[in-house]
Parts: sequence; C-alpha cells; structure tokens
Amino acid sequence: MRRVGFFGGTFDPVHLGHLVPAVRAYETFRFEAMVFIPGARPPHKLGEPLTPFSHRFAMLALATQPYDRFLVSAIESERKGPTYTVDTLRALRERLSVEQLYFLMGSDSFSQIGSWNRWQELVELAHLVVLHRDTVWGKALEARVPEVLLGRMRTIEPFRKVPDPEPGSRWIYLLEHEPFPISATHLRERLRAGLTIHELVPPEVHRYIVKHRLYHQGDERSDGI
Ligand code: ATP
Repeated sequence: MRRVGFFGGTFDPVHLGHLVPAVRAYETFRFEAMVFIPGARPPHKLGEPLTPFSHRFAMLALATQPYDRFLVSAIESERKGPTYTVDTLRALRERLSVEQLYFLMGSDSFSQIGSWNRWQELVELAHLVVLHRDTVWGKALEARVPEVLLGRMRTIEPFRKVPDPEPGSRWIYLLEHEPFPISATHLRERLRAGLTIHELVPPEVHRYIVKHRLYHQGDERSDGI
C-alpha cells in the first residue's frame, strides 16, 4: 500500500537532527516519498523573527537533494495568515491520491499536540510518527498528551517491519531511534557567537548559510515571508 511521509517544521535552518530521524522513519515505514513542508507563518512562532521562506526552502532543497525520494513542498507559502498543520494535511489529502499519510513530528511537538488547532481533526487525517527528542519521551511524554490518544500510541523499533494498519484506523507511532540532541535554536546561537556548526548541517547548507550571511547579528530574519 502506498505510504508517504510528511515532515512539517520551521527548518530555520534544517539540520541533522531533522534529517537523521527522517531517514530512519523513511526506511522503517518504507515510504514511497518523504515530503518536507517548511511553514510560512507557524502559529506557535508568530511573534518571533523568522528567516525568509525562500532561504529556508532553498536550504531544505539542498539538504534533500542527495535523496531520490525526498521532496520539498511550498504548499504553506500559498496560504495567507497563520499556517495550521490540520489545513495543510486536509489540502494534501485532497490533492494527492495517497492511501496512507504519515505526519512526522518531534516528541517535543507531540507533547503539545493538545494545544494545536483542531488537533482532534488532525489525528484523523494522518498517522503520526513521533521522533525521539531527548527532552521528552516515555512516561513524561504520555503524561502530557490528551488521554484519548494514549490507546493509539505504539512504540516502533527502527527498521522493524510496520504492518499496514486496518482501514480507517489511525495510529501514533513512537519511533524509538537514538536521539539526536540538537535544535535550530542551538545552531543559531552558535553562529551568532561565532562558533562552527559544520558538523551539524549538511555541507551544502553550511555553504548557503555562509554565502547569504544568515544568522549573524543584523541578519535577514524577518516575519518569515
Ligand atoms: P527551533 O529550535 O527553532 O524551535 P527545531 O530545531 O526544534 O527549531 P523545527 O523546525 O521547529 O526545529 O522542527 C520541525 C520538527 O522537527 C518539529 O516537529 C521538531 O520537534 C522536530 N525536530 C527538531 N529537531 C529535532 C531533533 N533533534 N530530533 C527529532 N526531532 C526534531
């Protein structure tokens, strides 16, 4: 059965903490394709400065180029106002004839799912694949998610075969991969402090950041568009 993975985020910038778990998920679930979706105006970051969408998109395009079946979608730049994941997933379902949608998110994001816009609708539109972030996992994670979701959660070992779910069911898979403890915030702070991030992003992304002088004092971070 056709399975496609979607990975939404700010990606400001994309880093190995996104890519390594994404490849683990891609291989474990045997996705036909993996689509990265940079957010135009993420609702939880509305008050914060954001690097222009064009730069974040370009860095994702460079980072995903080596992978045949990794794509980047500009779908969220088409909408005005805050971009809610539930609307993106609905639009994707209407546009693509994909039988099984899997939406990836880090466990920190999943721990806040109860505050996401129309989360009850969101969990019916796609299966969720929760990536292991060392900040919240296990019992601490379970304690934070809406109780009604607990019965849908199942832990998956990387590379173990994941059977096709029964038609109509929606699962939340916790992917027990080794955590990769970095964040874009940490990278931006290192760059501003004049420290290297060479080992934390693909070389093409590093070259792009240097060329466009991103994340330095007086940089180009604005309202995201
Ligand atoms: P920031 O520090 O700017 O908030 P971030 O590094 O958390 O950024 P985002 O672009 O906000 O990255 O994240 C996109 C998605 O990727 C989110 O669901 C987030 O939880 C997940 N993610 C980010 N970093 C990691 C990581 N190191 N391991 C697993 N998931 C991650």
